Amino acid sequence: MHEAGLAPYACDPQQSRGRRYPEEPAPTRTPYQRDRDRIVHSTAFRRLVYKTQVFLNHEGDLFRTRLTHSIEVAQLGRSIARSLRLNEDLVEAICLAHDLGHTPFGHAGQDQLHACMAEHGGFEHNLQSLRVVDRLERRYPQFDGLNLCFETREGILKHCSATHARVLEVDEPGGVGARFLLRQQPSLEAQLCNLSDEIAYNAHDIDDGVRSGLLTLEQLQAIPLFETRRQQALAEYPALAAAGSQHRLLYETIRRMLSAQVYDVIDATRQALQDHCPGHVSEVRTMPVLVRFSSEMHDQSQALKRFLFAHLYRHPQVVQTTDSARQVVRELFAAYTQQPQAMKPVFLQRWAEANTASERARVVADFIAGMTDRFAVKEHERLTGQRLLG
Ligand code: MG
Repeated sequence: MHEAGLAPYACDPQQSRGRRYPEEPAPTRTPYQRDRDRIVHSTAFRRLVYKTQVFLNHEGDLFRTRLTHSIEVAQLGRSIARSLRLNEDLVEAICLAHDLGHTPFGHAGQDQLHACMAEHGGFEHNLQSLRVVDRLERRYPQFDGLNLCFETREGILKHCSATHARVLEVDEPGGVGARFLLRQQPSLEAQLCNLSDEIAYNAHDIDDGVRSGLLTLEQLQAIPLFETRRQQALAEYPALAAAGSQHRLLYETIRRMLSAQVYDVIDATRQALQDHCPGHVSEVRTMPVLVRFSSEMHDQSQALKRFLFAHLYRHPQVVQTTDSARQVVRELFAAYTQQPQAMKPVFLQRWAEANTASERARVVADFIAGMTDRFAVKEHERLTGQRLLG
């Protein structure tokens, strides 16, 4: 029997492919609700509050962090899931966990850690998110990690190269790596989290970008996704044109942008579901991606992404902090490689148990990846005597 109200193509917790270590069901919660709760109570989740999204954590109190970003992604995901009769609890669990593997300092930190790990298999944040929930959290007596359901883990591993997928396959045949080798899709819930992530950061990066002074409302008028909604807002509330109402105008425009994208995804996905008629999640896997924008909205969203890339993520002021962030990560990696005893005892122990140079490097990468921005800055200062950020 499918959970009440769920569409036949939704993930049903009663038909979950289960956990790697079998557990008794919880008396009051479905397996996906339990996954969500485990994620919220994890150490990695609490660290997200001090991790950079775009602006470094110390640059202002009101900018998005990985935590507030993840909550916004979950909010959008749940709203859309409800309209499409997908499993809201699974969507929430995946959305809240989707960035757990991010390093300190956003993409700058990840790029640098990847460079440090070049000879040891590299570093990739989606794989790292899976490592966090599969291994690095240590809070249960029976197993490492959070022992989440297959469907939650599948959603967390959003991207994976064929090389990494083959490694995952050795450890877990037919598991979360398999679809990257079979070229199949994940559940609709997982597809929805990817799109919710995109909708969330496109919107909140405009907000943070304008509030930081790096983007202007004038620049954004070249972006149709933004400008159409700004014009609508002004037509309905002409008083928003006043100089003192710039923030309200910005928020009203972003609110309309979010709504337009959410409704577009719901309509376009409903159409795709009608065209492809999946009767079960197993059929979803061999179909094209069904949770989608209309082609017009897709183009508009891509145009906004390109704009943000050129004018915000590559803004000289952002790039300057990026260089310092990379230096912190690079020098931390070198310092722990030379003096592993400078790491926390649990990592030092893993380091001592490691058999190869690559395994030892992975321990160092895990330690650095888990750090908050400010802890990384403090550790860097402790080990090098130099204060680089904040
Ligand atoms: Mg994200």
